[in-house]
Amino acid sequence: MSYAGPDSDSPQPRRSRRGPMTVALAALVPGALLGWVVYEAVGGGGSGGSDRTGSSAPLSHTASASASPRSASPADDGKRPPVAAGSGPLAGKVVVIDAGHNPGNFRHVSEINRKVDIGTNWKECDTTGTSTDAGYTEARFTLDVAHRLRTLLREQGATVRLTHDGDRPAWGPCVDERARIGNAAHADAAVSIHADGSAPGNRGFHVILPGSVHSGGADTRKIVGPSHDLGVRIAGGFLRVTGEPPSNYLGGGTGFVTRTDLGGLNLSTVPKVFIECGNMRDSKDAAALTSGAWRQKAARGISEGIVSFLRRS
Ligand code: ZN
Repeated sequence: MSYAGPDSDSPQPRRSRRGPMTVALAALVPGALLGWVVYEAVGGGGSGGSDRTGSSAPLSHTASASASPRSASPADDGKRPPVAAGSGPLAGKVVVIDAGHNPGNFRHVSEINRKVDIGTNWKECDTTGTSTDAGYTEARFTLDVAHRLRTLLREQGATVRLTHDGDRPAWGPCVDERARIGNAAHADAAVSIHADGSAPGNRGFHVILPGSVHSGGADTRKIVGPSHDLGVRIAGGFLRVTGEPPSNYLGGGTGFVTRTDLGGLNLSTVPKVFIECGNMRDSKDAAALTSGAWRQKAARGISEGIVSFLRRS
């Protein structure tokens, strides 16, 4: 949440040649099946689906994409030791996880309000993020999911870096630095984790994809395609594992929104997406977001999408 600054654009509906079909199909298909239809319609099962083998049914694909972290993670307590560095199916792969906001941002308003150059314009260093009505903050949520996701990816042998881990002087990093951390790490994939702060009744997750921008220090032209692939796979894994529906208030029911006003995406030179895992201001979504068991599912869904992306080709 809280991307909206004085100079920000409204979220932009995703536009692609397949967009109208996605919406039309989405209107016809209820429930969990929607995710698969969306996945197919936006090209996840086709354009980047070379890992697809003998897909007689939708689940056969999503299962094949998971590299079976499910079976490897029965307890999911997040405390199992990672595999030895350099081994596992993701050995040599680098993933950067960006936990949105910082629990200390609330106390450092002047610092996080400082404007930074995001290529297309100048924008606040960061924002506080949102919270549930009961006060569970988005920043706590994002860091918790980031930790769980890190554990899961390390179990697959990936090298994982967080943009922050409570080890900073209580605020930040700024959005431009968050992007540059992924760039400097030469990440094979980067994901920024968030939860939204919309009106009650607005529910569901959405994945934010980078739009094509080329201005100042921002040039996303090379990452738009792979980021789209990454986003589709993350959305598919997230929906399948959590059962959380695609957003009913953004993205036309697709679960995808493309934006060109986010520094964390504009300045990235590596494949990167944001995921808004749910709406903290909706009571049903808040019940999920505040559950540790649900957050483990969220991390697993995101992980399976990333694993699928990194094992493609
Ligand atoms: Zn946020």
